[in-house]
Amino acid sequence: MSRQHLLLRELGLAPRWRLRHGAAPEPALAPVAANLVPTAAPVMPAVAAPVVVPAVAAVPAPAVVAPAATALPEWATLQQQVASCTACGLCQTRTQAVFGKGNPRARIMLVGEAPGAEEDKQGLPFVGKAGQLLDNMLAAIGLSQDDVFIANVLKCRPPGNRNPAVDEMAACADYLRWQIAHVQPEVLVTLGRFAAHALLQSDAAIGALRRETHQYQGIPLFVTFHPAYLLRSPGEKAKAWQDLLAIRRALAKKA
Ligand code: SF4
Repeated sequence: MSRQHLLLRELGLAPRWRLRHGAAPEPALAPVAANLVPTAAPVMPAVAAPVVVPAVAAVPAPAVVAPAATALPEWATLQQQVASCTACGLCQTRTQAVFGKGNPRARIMLVGEAPGAEEDKQGLPFVGKAGQLLDNMLAAIGLSQDDVFIANVLKCRPPGNRNPAVDEMAACADYLRWQIAHVQPEVLVTLGRFAAHALLQSDAAIGALRRETHQYQGIPLFVTFHPAYLLRSPGEKAKAWQDLLAIRRALAKKA
């Protein structure tokens, strides 16, 4: 058994993270403890030129990404604003707002949907089983949570984990936009359809959006599945693995 498969098995990803027969070969994995990408010449296929997908003009996008009408607040101010925000009705049912976690100077920024029950309780995004799977996904391409910054489209939990409402996403849009402006990641990754729709202003199906390189204000943006969805649909993990490889190639290209 190869070292890569041993590592994946150790992470609890094998065998589902193996590429299926006929798919492109996997590049060798970077050491889990290493920084973002291998510093030695990576054993990976040549990187195809990014495909910029035109906006899905035919489909009206949710009014989520607000125009840059106000000045960028300081990071600490932004955290305080989120913590005390009452701009939408979710402030009445949250335990606490969930700002984000990770390195505010990270090369890669992940954007999820909204806090769940455990996130609402702990004040951190992506804890619990979905968070563990996300950790494993990051580790599989040589990243830890310290290498990334993770935030959600909504900073407060929708009751019962229902889907975010359009007016809630619009009310919360500036916070995410400002977070991205502060972090200035080299690569953005959306987890699940709501994050993709929010940043791409499209409501196209996630299957049509993933595995293409989009752009958000000049930053390459990749669309992949939400870890909670992968827990419910483990058969999709092979596709998510291919998305991860594309993300790693993009980071390697920028190193
Ligand atoms: S979800 Fe966003 S806009 Fe709504 S109260 Fe929380 S921080 Fe404010």
